[in-house]
Amino acid sequence: MSDRLTGGCQCGVVRFSCEGLGRASICHCRMCQRAFAAPFAALVTARGLVWTAGEPKRFRSSSKARRGFCADCGTTLTLEYDGLDAELAICAFDRPQDIAPVIQVGVESRLPWAQNCPSLPGRPADQQEAADAFLADLVSLQSAIPWREAP
Ligand SMILES: [Zn+2]
Repeated sequence: MSDRLTGGCQCGVVRFSCEGLGRASICHCRMCQRAFAAPFAALVTARGLVWTAGEPKRFRSSSKARRGFCADCGTTLTLEYDGLDAELAICAFDRPQDIAPVIQVGVESRLPWAQNCPSLPGRPADQQEAADAFLADLVSLQSAIPWREAP
């Protein structure tokens, strides 16, 4: 069990484990944008998925799929096409840095600004100092995972 991939929602009520992963992708489609409330979704197909704590509540978002989320904290967790292995939100994994997307889909709905994000400037140094001071004594109430875990 120790080499299984684990993750869960931000409050810790729902936790999962899987034995392997299929293709990891970025999806820009409008349905994923709305379900994640984010410019795109990062998803990976899960093999041998087990819910080790709780289970997501599901919303049927289309005639072909349901989407799972934690009913307590709202974290988006799955995209589940009927009859197929569930896809998990990559950033719900404990180590999302290990799961790199290899394809992007739904590009017809890609937001015009989404591909420019990596080239946006960072905060100026003085603003960064103020932000660091503000965040220095912040205590995460999310479960288990350090909020600023180094990749
Ligand atoms: Zn939760």
